[in-house]
Amino acid sequence: MSEALTILKEVFGYPAFRGQQAAVIEHLTGGGDCLVLMPTGGGKSLCYQIPALLRDGVAIVVSPLIALMQNQMAALLELDVRAAVLNSSLSPREAAHVEQRLLAGEYDLLYVAPERLLTARFLALIARVRIALFAIDEAHCVSQWGHDFRPEYIQLSVLHERFPTIPRIALTATADMDTRKEIIERLGLETAEIFVSSFDRPNIRYRIVDKTNSRAQLLHFIRAEHPNDAGIVYCLSRKKAEETAFWLAGQGLRAMAYHAGMSLRERSDHQEKFLREDGVIMVATIAFGMGIDKPDVRFVAHLDLPKSIEGYYQETGRAGRDGQAADAWMVYGLNDVIQQRRMIEESEAHARFKQTAARKLEAMLALCETMTCRRMRILRYFGEATAIEACGNCDICLNPPRLHDATVEVQKALSCVYRTGQTFGAGHLIDVLRGSPTARVRQWHHTRLSTFGIGKDLPEKAWRAIFRQIVALGLLTTDSEGYGALHLTEASRAVLKGQRTVLLREQLQSKSFSERRQSVDSKPFSDDELALWEQLRAWRAKTAKEHGVPAYVIFHDSTLRELVRLSPQTEEALHQVAGVGTRKLEKYGEQLMVMLRNQS
Ligand code: ADP
Ligand code: ZN
Repeated sequence: MSEALTILKEVFGYPAFRGQQAAVIEHLTGGGDCLVLMPTGGGKSLCYQIPALLRDGVAIVVSPLIALMQNQMAALLELDVRAAVLNSSLSPREAAHVEQRLLAGEYDLLYVAPERLLTARFLALIARVRIALFAIDEAHCVSQWGHDFRPEYIQLSVLHERFPTIPRIALTATADMDTRKEIIERLGLETAEIFVSSFDRPNIRYRIVDKTNSRAQLLHFIRAEHPNDAGIVYCLSRKKAEETAFWLAGQGLRAMAYHAGMSLRERSDHQEKFLREDGVIMVATIAFGMGIDKPDVRFVAHLDLPKSIEGYYQETGRAGRDGQAADAWMVYGLNDVIQQRRMIEESEAHARFKQTAARKLEAMLALCETMTCRRMRILRYFGEATAIEACGNCDICLNPPRLHDATVEVQKALSCVYRTGQTFGAGHLIDVLRGSPTARVRQWHHTRLSTFGIGKDLPEKAWRAIFRQIVALGLLTTDSEGYGALHLTEASRAVLKGQRTVLLREQLQSKSFSERRQSVDSKPFSDDELALWEQLRAWRAKTAKEHGVPAYVIFHDSTLRELVRLSPQTEEALHQVAGVGTRKLEKYGEQLMVMLRNQS
């Protein structure tokens, strides 16, 4: 294992292994199969990259996305590791060239798309070379129930049949038990060692706020907390993604859209900009994200409710892969609850599928309405035993909501639903409760109802939050025709009769979070430090451009930050900085020393 540590330091420039990396590397290098479950940003790549360098022959890495392969290769080439890709982005001539070099034993790692790997031709080709290991990245793509399903992945079991002595490693960041079981079955990993890491992402701060005006809230959030940062904004529909991107751009932010309805060229153009330029905001549907291993995404915002905690966690997990402070921020309101429930109801899927979808949605809603630490809820949902009750880095922990007895308000709302004939949506009901004589209220003679104006004492916003919670709690449901009309349920009867009290969350008087913000790197830079930081960033941008790679492939933000803080004055000291390996020292040491020495 000392050899592995040397490679970690010399090639990758990191001082120590993280979590289970060392154990996985030892197992795989020794020839054992394994399944690695690690959260996004946990450091999965090193788990096969280091064994690839330690074992004889070439490691064949199966990866579902071209962008992912391309980025991995670019990062490895920067470190002078002999890596290549084989996928449809190559011309036939380029591909033939890669194959020749493969046969000549000139690669340590080869990234291959599954459909190419599975061709008889390619299988025959690799039978002629020495193979160090097979790595199956994003292994959850074998799962037929997941949204990343790739049919070719199922056939990857052929690797074991054809090459039974070559060790295999399957990796995923999808945490739930069903997917885990499916991976093991479909890839024939019954005897493989399973390495499960904690799925906690302590640097991500989770916040779910009441939706009032989502665009304005989003803009405020970005301006107050993430000016000039890269981030992802998720929306449910293509149209909304486009409109939101357009609107943000109109507000002077560098925002772009990404969804499956755009042309391939436009999509890859936007993705390239997001990866390579600083501070780009991608407004996207869930079509965007898998394989985006940009480490310095500082926030992920949701303008619509995700369908499940799995989806939410995967999407938010794209923030802060570099371990630095990041935000997962979401706005959520009554319409989200209604819309998601209706989508399940109206879908043509099998009853069993609908049931599963409904169960997952309820868990997501419970997370939104929780009174206790969000992180603990998420981790327990994934079956992780957690010893502590509060994380100290989510909105609930930082600004605990209060439960209050809202039975009277809920009774008012329910009886208003009853008196208006159970045919109206929340907007109209709130008008009646607040005694607003709108045209519609007058048209239906609802000014004459006993419930007209009985809720004057609360602002509209408060009533919206109350209705949202009532629906989330199942005290009201919507009809299936889809007009959003609210109906009483079995459970509402007990409340109306006064047999059941209802506790609701107190409206949060959310103070500006930026005031409370204490980032991982809390001490602000001095003026001199700031000047050096800017200089290093400019140098990095220029160098990245020259090499045709994203900036973080040259150095991570965290490395630049350490350079500023530590201001190393010798090459030896420079080598000590995390992220500065031998190769990068050789390549960039002199240029860095000039900037660092000038500074002091
Ligand atoms: P994953 O694929 O699990 O999401 P990556 O393999 O992309 O994660 O690693 C996430 C980031 O953490 C990368 O930028 C990687 O360079 C960095 N990293 C991985 N292992 C270590 C380590 N032992 N020490 C420091 N940084 C590491
Ligand atoms: Zn918490």
